[in-house]
Amino acid sequence: MAAMLEFYEELGIEEFYIGRTEAKTAMPASKPAPAVEAPAKSASTQRVADARPQPPKVVFGNPPAQLYNAAAEPQATAVPGPVAQSMSLFETPSPGTTQRENETLEQIREDLGDCHRCRLAAGRHSIVFGQGNPHAELVFVGEGPGADEDAQGLPFVGRAGRLLNKMIELAGMKREEVYICNIVKCRPPNNRTPLPDEIETCSPFLFRQIRAIKPRLVCCLGSPAVKTLLGVKEGITKIRGRFYDFQGTKALPTFHPAYILRNPREEKVLREDFQKMVEFLNLPR
Ligand code: URA
Repeated sequence: MAAMLEFYEELGIEEFYIGRTEAKTAMPASKPAPAVEAPAKSASTQRVADARPQPPKVVFGNPPAQLYNAAAEPQATAVPGPVAQSMSLFETPSPGTTQRENETLEQIREDLGDCHRCRLAAGRHSIVFGQGNPHAELVFVGEGPGADEDAQGLPFVGRAGRLLNKMIELAGMKREEVYICNIVKCRPPNNRTPLPDEIETCSPFLFRQIRAIKPRLVCCLGSPAVKTLLGVKEGITKIRGRFYDFQGTKALPTFHPAYILRNPREEKVLREDFQKMVEFLNLPR
């Protein structure tokens, strides 16, 4: 029996004895998953696994990104922190997409096509791919298009966008200098938060965009962006304004501008976080 299970495991078939696999891999509930890569498979297992169509990887639940030098240095410094050893979402091709090395935003947009990979396609007018400098040092990642964005096909062009523009300008930058995009590229009905399967389907395009742009800093606007990019589960209030390592790039979570519109007293906190980003970007590389 044991030999038979080993054989099926080698083939990657685990569903009908999943309890055995779970028992082998279960982590203590009290401990967060360590930020390490999955152990390497044996060469023969790897060959068999590579030959099979790979299921889409779950975006949520990746090992969380590491807080950048948090204990010693809550502000950004010039010293690069260790790169988070989380499972590389950059290396996770979306179903039906082909990821090339050194691809351009145009190629990614072409690959996205007239996307109908998830249910959000049914209610959209436009795909909101992203906008800005393809070589930006700073990328903003929001949640998903709203009504204005859906109508115009551009990210952050409504009320939240105007506040984002204001913050960018107050920090001494121009909107054209940065790149702005979202976790999902189609408007969720009634502006609801994107569902996990929608994020799972769409986010590989976001990761590819970030990889193509190669920014120095990614700003996660709000919790869904933080969870998607960093796998960090703590609330935004707790983690905002700190630098994390994300795939060799720094990432800073802050409040979503729409939250600030509802809670204007927090605007000064958003300004502080933008100031931190600018200070970081002004540091020598
Ligand atoms: N909110 C977002 O998260 N993204 C947009 O593009 C607009 C509003």
